[in-house]
Amino acid sequence: MGQDIRSSASTVLANMGALMPGVEALYRDIHSHPELSMQETRTAGIAADKLKGAGYEVTTGVGKTGVVGLIRNGEGPTVMLRADMDALPVTEETGVPYASKVPGVSHMCGHDMHVAWLAGAATLLAQSRERWKGTLMVVFQPGEEIAAGARAMIDDGLLKRFPTPAVVLGQHVMVGPAGTVAGSAGPITSAADSLQIRLFGRGAHGSMPQASIDPVVMAASTVLRLQTIVSREVAATDAAVITVGVLQAGTKENVIPDDAIIKLNVRTFDAGVRKHVLEAIERIVNAEAAASGAPRKPEITPLDQYPLNVNDEKASNRIAEAFRAYFSPERVKHTGPAPASEDFGCFGTAWQVPSVFWFVGGNDPEVYAKAKAAGKLNELPVNHSPKFAPVLHPTLETGVEAMVVGALAWLAAG
Ligand SMILES: [Zn+2]
Ligand SMILES: [Zn+2]
Repeated sequence: MGQDIRSSASTVLANMGALMPGVEALYRDIHSHPELSMQETRTAGIAADKLKGAGYEVTTGVGKTGVVGLIRNGEGPTVMLRADMDALPVTEETGVPYASKVPGVSHMCGHDMHVAWLAGAATLLAQSRERWKGTLMVVFQPGEEIAAGARAMIDDGLLKRFPTPAVVLGQHVMVGPAGTVAGSAGPITSAADSLQIRLFGRGAHGSMPQASIDPVVMAASTVLRLQTIVSREVAATDAAVITVGVLQAGTKENVIPDDAIIKLNVRTFDAGVRKHVLEAIERIVNAEAAASGAPRKPEITPLDQYPLNVNDEKASNRIAEAFRAYFSPERVKHTGPAPASEDFGCFGTAWQVPSVFWFVGGNDPEVYAKAKAAGKLNELPVNHSPKFAPVLHPTLETGVEAMVVGALAWLAAG
């Protein structure tokens, strides 16, 4: 397959140079006009226009703002390419000249990069239909950051209204040297579960603790005990993260409040570990409430849930082989699962077809190498940081190339 991929990808990508100024302009435009989850009307409109201009059959408003573009190009597999479009409620601090013009909203996860990549790749594939066969399905998805968009598209009939893909492909910009791609077979992003826990006590005057059941102490004790799940109940060879991000109780120093709120986030890479951790949280929360003599059982409310994202082994190897053939092996890195989460996995799971998700580096290679040598990789701004600013080149080119090569690993094979 190596040589075929190299030759078909080189032909399809021959026009990339001419297209890149447009891809860069699109990126800058979307970066400076970010839209929050499920409100991506402007971005979706631009994506739909790009697809129409390139000759796609376009459906808009799938799952509110989702866009689906199709090119039916003869007998062959259907390949679905996906990008997410939403921004975050974060005030940008990158200082780039094309920074967000919307107060308090910015593309700090890089979904603007994903839109630009996919628009570029979709255009190049449409322009070179003689080099491949099959059906290309391009999906711009809303609401990834709140785990709602993939589900919204599926609930809006995605599976019935569009052809079943042979494979679903997606990519994310991440910390890593620009010009490289990274991934592996098996779990690639973690399952994430967010929960709200409300602990009930009995309020009283601060001077009379005997009249109270203090939810502050109950919550403090619960937060500490939750730390023992990962340290004492999860094997060293497994992994999990439990982070309490919100701890709220009380309004005044001499008033013991009635209740306390804990909001926490769990990351796991294995269905069995996930089940164990979630059950352990429930057990500890209930037991701590009982230990305090709480008047009511705590309320545990799920906030959102991202599925474990598993790269199909065969499909993942096919992608890795195509990437190595096109990019050269040095630019293709192996990376284990990232403790980030994605609702990308919903598509493959819903259709019951293989999916592959990979990462594209967004850091200046020199800056990355220096940080690595100094043992300071953790100091590079990561996704969701207000300073997350991928370098434009070659990050833009690499993502366009990776999407094209990935699609051709199926479409050019026939
Ligand atoms: Zn994100
Ligand atoms: Zn993201």
